[in-house]
Amino acid sequence: MGQSPIELYETDALTLACGTDLFEIDDPKDCKISGKFKTEKGHANFLVDPPEKDHFPELTFRGTRYQLAKIHLHTHPEHVVGEGEQAKYEIHLIHVPKRGGAAPSPLVVIGILYTLDEKAPANPGVKCLCNKIKINPIDFFPLLEDGQTDLVNWYHYEGSLTTFPYSENVSWFVMRDRGSITNAEIAPLQTGEPQDYRKVQPLDRRLIVRSF
Ligand SMILES: [Zn+2]
Repeated sequence: MGQSPIELYETDALTLACGTDLFEIDDPKDCKISGKFKTEKGHANFLVDPPEKDHFPELTFRGTRYQLAKIHLHTHPEHVVGEGEQAKYEIHLIHVPKRGGAAPSPLVVIGILYTLDEKAPANPGVKCLCNKIKINPIDFFPLLEDGQTDLVNWYHYEGSLTTFPYSENVSWFVMRDRGSITNAEIAPLQTGEPQDYRKVQPLDRRLIVRSF
């Protein structure tokens, strides 16, 4: 069994000496992607249009380049991250190998959790997705205390799709910290683009690693 989602606690995860040896997210500052929502078997995905130029969201996983293909939002969190009150929403950024041929994993998915906060500055990525305007995927990521985008503090484990057919073909990276969003920003996505959620699954013999 290597199913997702799972619970992620700092104390259960092994710290990597150098996280970027395993995984590194590019930060294309002027990147703006477009796409459209498409509902497939009850799952509303934001399908990213093919890249028009070099500035496209990519990452490196185990030496192989991946690019962003789909985004969707779960209106209930899937992963449990840390103790205490859990988040309200979870965004999944789904990446596929950039070129065909051998790749260390068929899918690399980044999970980012969000809390509902009417006062905190909202993550512009979610706002853009809700309003169906162009997105820089970096805007989905949590912010550190100094205001910098956090691309480097994550948990990693090997798991599965969280929807049917639950294929065990996903390398998961779940961000340690949360983003925030307001009710008004989430409302259009919640009513128009629903996405189910799955309960946590047993870890069994798998290892969880973390970059921090
Ligand atoms: Zn998902």
